[in-house]
Amino acid sequence: MKTRITELLGIEYPIVQGGMQWVGYAGLASAVSNAGGLGILTGLTQPTPEDLTREIARCREMTDRPFGVNLTILPTIKPVPYDEYAQAIAESGVKIVETAGRNPERFMAGFKAAGIKVIHKCTSLRHSQKAQAIGCDVVSVDGFECAGHPGEDDIPNFVLLPIVASSLSVPLLASGGIATGRQMVAAMALGADGINMGTRFVATREAPVHDNVKKALVDADERQTVLMFRTLKNTVRVFRNRVSVKVLSIEAKPGETRFSELEHLVSGTRGRDEVLLGGDIDNGIWTAGVVAGLIDDIPCCAALIREIMEDAADCLRERLPTC
Ligand code: NAD
Repeated sequence: MKTRITELLGIEYPIVQGGMQWVGYAGLASAVSNAGGLGILTGLTQPTPEDLTREIARCREMTDRPFGVNLTILPTIKPVPYDEYAQAIAESGVKIVETAGRNPERFMAGFKAAGIKVIHKCTSLRHSQKAQAIGCDVVSVDGFECAGHPGEDDIPNFVLLPIVASSLSVPLLASGGIATGRQMVAAMALGADGINMGTRFVATREAPVHDNVKKALVDADERQTVLMFRTLKNTVRVFRNRVSVKVLSIEAKPGETRFSELEHLVSGTRGRDEVLLGGDIDNGIWTAGVVAGLIDDIPCCAALIREIMEDAADCLRERLPTC
């Protein structure tokens, strides 16, 4: 399939595996790229910029196809040397970067000088317009359905995507809530040139997480996520479990919530060690989207991408036969 996204990024299918903290290692990213999509390494999952440089080199040994690197700019417990991560990416020879969170303007000159195409994730029209204005090559429109940080406007992609599409000229990815080919067809009808998926790729054989996490996604329905950090204006959608429910109860108390009250519960390293690696799905925060309700198997990445493309073709044939 050819779209503006496949042409721009040099990939076979318009399917991107978005950045996922503690999941986006070379094994998963290369599996997606080898299957014809775009795999993305998550920059901050590597403890230092030097480690990221090594992980990029490792990924390059595992695939000769394009892959990207995610750089997310959001509040963190440990200060992040963003300029050094950005420099490591620019010097690595990687040609695609996915930025997310805050405005990536300060990194654009360095990325452009290195010949990098920048995909910026946006949860609103105004951020999408800004991204295009500062020279981003692609906007990944992240609807309210998404895992992780959906922003504070709560607009799902059935409305956000066509609004952004009518305003922007750069290629668009539809992100958030997508797991199937028929959703890909719908997203393209609404103005997308491709799709971005995160949670769906966690439930694949190559995802470097405990089997209990993958099984939890298969078992979950679409109501199995909650929104934390509303009180901090840093809303994040995560799996509903003992720890996320405890966080919500602290946030519901009268008066201002202080992050220091939550830190021991919500730290990413606790989620990584207890849940993603340890398999105790109730004992830390882990990110998931409402798309969990659509996930009912744990295929390899190649089978998943094949199935999505076949489902898209079936959808066009069976449900939209006169198109
Ligand atoms: P972390 O352990 O530093 O923080 C855990 C959570 O608390 C994150 O949601 C973070 O945004 C939030 N947080 C931290 N300090 C805060 C503060 N002072 N006020 C309000 N909220 C605060 O996070 P991590 O697991 O090491 O992840 C590193 C970064 O990557 C975080 O910014 C996180 O939000 C982001 N992230 C990215 C992805 C992705 O797919 N790229 C997914 C999940 C998280």
